[in-house]
Amino acid sequence: MAHESTQSRLDSHENVPWHALESEQVQTRLETGPDGLSGKEAAARLARFGANQIEDEASAGALVVLLRQFRSPLIYILLAAAGITALLEEYIDAGVIAFVLVLNAAIGFTQERKAEGAVRALMQLVVPKARVVRDGREFTVDSRQLVVGDAVLLESGARIPADLRLAWTNGLHINESLLTGESLPPAKHHEPVDSGASLADRHNMAYTGTVVTSGRGLGLVTATGSRTELGTIAGLIRSEAVTQTPLQERMGQFARVIGVAVGVASVVAFVSGLALGGSPQEMFLTAVALAVAAIPEGLPAVFTITLALGVRRMARRHAIIRRLPAVETLGSTTVIGSDKTGTLTENRMTVQQIWAGGRMFEFADGGGDDLLCDGEPATPADHPALRLTVLTGVLTNEAQAQASDRGVQITGDPTEGSLLMSAVAIGIRPDQAREDNPAVADIPFEPEHGYSATLRSRDEVQTLYVKGAPERVTAMCTHMLVEGKPEPIDVNAVHQAAHQLAEDGLRVLAFAYRETPTPIAAPNELSEPRALVFLGLQGMMDPPRAGVREAVSTCRKAGIRVVMITGDHRTTALAIARSLGLCDADATALTGAEMAAMSAEQLIERAASTSVYARASPEQKLRIVKALQQVGNVVAVTGDGVNDAPALKAADIGVAMGRSGTDVAREASDMVLTDDNFVSIAAAVEEGRVTFDNVRKVTFFLVSTGAAAIAAILVGVWARWPLIMLPAQLLWLNLVTSGLQDVALAFEPGDKDVLKKPPRPRTEGILSRMLWGRTALAGLVMAAGTLMLFRWELDRTGSLPQAQTVALTTMVVFMAFHAGNCRSESASVLRISPISNPFLLIATTAALGLHAAALYLAPTQFVLRVEPIDAAAWIRIVSVATTILVAIELHKFLLRRRTSHLAGTSQAQGGLRRSQ
Ligand code: ADP
Ligand code: MG
Repeated sequence: MAHESTQSRLDSHENVPWHALESEQVQTRLETGPDGLSGKEAAARLARFGANQIEDEASAGALVVLLRQFRSPLIYILLAAAGITALLEEYIDAGVIAFVLVLNAAIGFTQERKAEGAVRALMQLVVPKARVVRDGREFTVDSRQLVVGDAVLLESGARIPADLRLAWTNGLHINESLLTGESLPPAKHHEPVDSGASLADRHNMAYTGTVVTSGRGLGLVTATGSRTELGTIAGLIRSEAVTQTPLQERMGQFARVIGVAVGVASVVAFVSGLALGGSPQEMFLTAVALAVAAIPEGLPAVFTITLALGVRRMARRHAIIRRLPAVETLGSTTVIGSDKTGTLTENRMTVQQIWAGGRMFEFADGGGDDLLCDGEPATPADHPALRLTVLTGVLTNEAQAQASDRGVQITGDPTEGSLLMSAVAIGIRPDQAREDNPAVADIPFEPEHGYSATLRSRDEVQTLYVKGAPERVTAMCTHMLVEGKPEPIDVNAVHQAAHQLAEDGLRVLAFAYRETPTPIAAPNELSEPRALVFLGLQGMMDPPRAGVREAVSTCRKAGIRVVMITGDHRTTALAIARSLGLCDADATALTGAEMAAMSAEQLIERAASTSVYARASPEQKLRIVKALQQVGNVVAVTGDGVNDAPALKAADIGVAMGRSGTDVAREASDMVLTDDNFVSIAAAVEEGRVTFDNVRKVTFFLVSTGAAAIAAILVGVWARWPLIMLPAQLLWLNLVTSGLQDVALAFEPGDKDVLKKPPRPRTEGILSRMLWGRTALAGLVMAAGTLMLFRWELDRTGSLPQAQTVALTTMVVFMAFHAGNCRSESASVLRISPISNPFLLIATTAALGLHAAALYLAPTQFVLRVEPIDAAAWIRIVSVATTILVAIELHKFLLRRRTSHLAGTSQAQGGLRRSQ
C-alpha cells in the first residue's frame, strides 16, 4: 500500500523540480520525516525500486580477449611455422601446431577471463559507504542500499552516493567538475532556487559522483542508480580502465626479444644446415622444430595467473589492490610513510589525564571513572575549569553517544568520542549538555584548520567554545581560568603541561571559551576566534596496534625504511615512534613549521635521516614523498583525508584506509587496507616480492627449456645428424608436460627469506644477470644429455623414431627435475618441502604419467610418432636427467657463498654508516 502511494507521488503530477521546492515540501513528497525513513520502509523501497547502482560497463568483450591471445610475436612465429609445415606437406605436424595454437588460445582465454574476473571481484570489495539517518539513528550502509527518501549525512571527502536535495548545510562545498566542468567548488545551502536553474546553479542539490571538499551537510535522496543525473550520462562512469602494468609491458618486450632470438636461431639453423649440405625440405622442418620448441607460448597466460594469484594473496592479508602495477611496485618499495593515528595505533582513544586550572587530574586505572588529583579522589564540582574543559569537549564535538545495554556506544571520530566518555565519567550527560546550550553556528574540525569551534546561546548569553591543538588554541587566548577567575594567560605553564602529557605518548587537545552578553557576528568570530579564555587540556591514550612493532622490525630487515607522517604533536609522535621501534631514543622529529622554512634541496637532505614528521599538513606529505623519490626511493604512503589525494597519487604506492578513509583518498590510491593496519602494508610488500619471484621462476623455467631445445637442435644440425625431435614432439614437451608445471610454479608459496633481502631494484629485468647465466648453464646441460642419449639410441637400434622418442623422454624427465630447481633462486631443492607446493608435485607426476601413457597409446603414437622404449633406456634417461639437479645445485651453492660473502661486507659498511 505504502509503495503504491510512494510510487504515485514520485511520478507525481506536480512537475516542480526538487530544487524549487521548500524543504518541507521535499519531505512530504518523499514521504520521510525528521527521523529519516524507518528501516522497514527503506527495505521495502529497496526491494521495489532496486539497488542504487549504475550498471557497470561490460568488461572487455569476450572476442577482444580471444583475439588478444593471438596478438603476440610468439604466436606469429607459430603461425608461420604451421604454414611452412603445411607447405612441406607434413600435415600431421601442421595439424598439431594448429591444434596447439587453438588450445593455447583457449587456455589463455579461459585463464585470463577467470583471472580478470577474480581481480575485478576483489577490487569491488571496497564498496562505497554512506552515512544515513534511519529511525532517528545514524548508520553506515553500503551505498547501493540507499533509497529515495533516505537522509544522507555528508562530510568532507565523501563522494555523493545518490542525487540529494540538501536539507541542512554547514560550510558545505561540493566539487561538481565531473558534471559541470567547473573546477571551483560552489558553496551549498538548503533554500529553494529558481525552477529553471541549470545544474551548476542548483545550490541546494548534491549530485551523484561529485565530491564534498569541505563542510558538513544533510541531504534527502531524490534519485538513485541510473535515474540520477550521472546515471543518465552513463558514458562518464566508465570503470577504471585496467592499465598495463610495467611488468606486463616488460613481459611484452621480453616476448619480443625471445621472438627475435628464436627467429634468428631458426634462420641460423636453416642457413648453416643448407651450407653443410642438408636438403631444403629437411632444413625447413628443422627451423620449424626449433621455433616451436623455443617459444614459451604459455608465458602470457601463466603471467596473468601469477599476478591474479598475487592480488588474491594480498586480499587475504587485508590489502586490496586497486591498480595492478601496485602488485609489482610493492616488491620494490624502499620507504613506507605511514600515518600514526589508526594505522600505527588503534585509534581507540581514552582520555587519561586532564590539566585544568593549573592542576593535573588523572583517571584511575588509565581511563576508569574515578578522577584523582595528586593521588586523592577529586570532586569535579569543586573545579570549575575542569568542568568547563570537559563541557567544551562535548559541545565542540560531532560524535554521538548512545546509551545501550553494553554501556555507552560512540559513533563518530574516536578522538571526539573519547571526549564524550570523559564527560560521562565526571557526570556530564552529552545530550543534555547539548540540549541546554543550543547551537547558533559551528565550525567542525578539519585537519587543515587544526581546531573546531561552536557558538552556543543560553540564558541570553552567547558563548564561543573552541577545541584544538594546544599551540593553535593558546594563540587565540589572552586569559586563562584559575580558581574560577580569568587571569592573564601563562603560556609557558600551558606548554609545559602539554609537553608533560605528550611525553607519555598522549594526544593532547586544548580547550578555551569566551562569554559575550551581546550576540556576536557568528561567521567572523568562528573563523578567527580571538580573546579567548584558556580552560585546560585533555590527554588521550591511543595504544599502538598489536604486531606493528614486529612489522616495523621486519621491514627494517627487508631494507625498507618506515617513517611516520602525522598531524599530531612532535612529542606525542616521537613517544609513539620510539615505543614502536621506529626510531632511536635520541632521534628528533621534523615539524611542519620547520619544513615550511626549508627548500626542496634541504628537505631532501633531511629526509634521508628523518623518521618522524610531526604537525605535517597534507601538502607537506606530498613534499616529503617527492623528496624521498628524488633520491631514488620507491615510496608507499598512507592517507585518509581529502587533501591526502595528491600525495597518494604522487607516491609509487598510495595506500588508503578502507575503514576510516574518505572516498576521495580511496579513489586516489593504488591499494586499500581493509583493516587500516600498518601490518597489512608490510604483508602486501611481502606478497609483492613473492609474486615477482614467481613470475621469475616461471620465466626461468620456460626460457631454460627453450635454450636447451635450441642448443640441441643447432648442434644436431651442425653435426649433420637427423632431426633429434619432430615439431609435434617439441610441442608436446612445451605445452603438455612443461605446460602443467609452469602453471604450478605460479603457486609457489615463496621463499622464507623474501623479507630478509634488500628490495629488488625497480629497473632490474624479469631475469637477472645471474638467472641468464643459469639459463645458459641449464640449457647446455639438458642439451648435452639429450644429444648424448639420442646418439646412443640411434647407434644401438638404428631406428630414428626410437632415438627421437628417447630424446623427447629425456627432455620430459629433465623438465620434471628442473621444475624442482626453479622453486628457489638460492635455496637447495633438498631444503624445500616437496608438499609446500602440492600443485607442482601433482603437475610433475601428471606430466610424467601422461608422457609414459603417450608412448603406449596408439593415437598419441601416431600423432607424436613415438614408440615404447625399454627399461634400460628408462634407466639411462633418469640417470642422465639427474645431472640437471647437480648442475643447478652447484650454481646455487656458489651463489650462496658469494652472497653471504657480500652480505658480510655490506653489513660491515652498514655498521660503519650507522656509527658515523
Ligand atoms: P594524525 O596524523 O595523528 O591522524 P590529525 O591530522 O588527525 O593527526 O590531527 C592533527 C592534530 O589536530 C591533532 O594533534 C590535534 O591537535 C588536532 N585534532 C585532531 N582531531 C581533532 C578534533 N576532532 N578536534 C580538534 N582538534 C583535533
Ligand atoms: Mg587523523
